Amino acid sequence: MESINSLLNLYRVDGQVRALRKRLDSAQRYLQAQTKNLDALTEQLQELKTRKRQTQATIGNLEVETAAADERLEKLRTELNSAVTNKQYSAVLTELNTVKLNRSEVEDRILEDMERIEQLEKQIDAVQAQRDDRGKVRDVAQSELDQRQADIGQRLEELADERRTAAAEVPPAALAIFDEMADCYDGEALATILEIDRRHREYACGSCNMHVPFERISLLLGGSDDVVRCTACSRILYLQEETRGSFAKK
Ligand SMILES: [Zn+2]
Repeated sequence: MESINSLLNLYRVDGQVRALRKRLDSAQRYLQAQTKNLDALTEQLQELKTRKRQTQATIGNLEVETAAADERLEKLRTELNSAVTNKQYSAVLTELNTVKLNRSEVEDRILEDMERIEQLEKQIDAVQAQRDDRGKVRDVAQSELDQRQADIGQRLEELADERRTAAAEVPPAALAIFDEMADCYDGEALATILEIDRRHREYACGSCNMHVPFERISLLLGGSDDVVRCTACSRILYLQEETRGSFAKK
């Protein structure tokens, strides 16, 4: 009898702790999700910026190549002007054309890379804008969590204390069952007994609705200090005052 009363008290406080903690947890989970979103965008942004830098470096190298080609062309043109024989002239001309061709290929690559940079810049702007928006959402999530913490943090601490006190009142064996069931059923460790048909002694578990044998009711009525559990869902059973009262009247 005493054990069920202490369990009912623990059940009540535990339920309050869980309800408050759930409010904090949901705010925390939301914040975590937003942070993850933001981190993914930041990473994407870094990657795009790295690609832009690498492409710029490539362009730099290609520009060095065209400058070298220009220098070479300058020299070849001078050589061409001072060529004495036909053979000399055509040899210099061949090289000059080859260098020209190479230079124009390099120039094409520079143009391609410049286009690539333009595209990268567009992507960077888009991701940056997305990231700015997400950052605002994340900030709101953070302030919501802070607010909740401020609103209920204190109350939660008080309740956690209360829960410890309530748990200390429960016999250890019963407490172990309570904790196991509470973890298993998200706090719903206890179940009330439903009276289906008193004349036929039909009773059911208030949580899982399965039949409860009358001998279990007797145990509860007899004031046994052992925990009485539902045969189907294993929750701890208890009689509500009105059900208990109806037996007393008989
Ligand atoms: Zn049950």
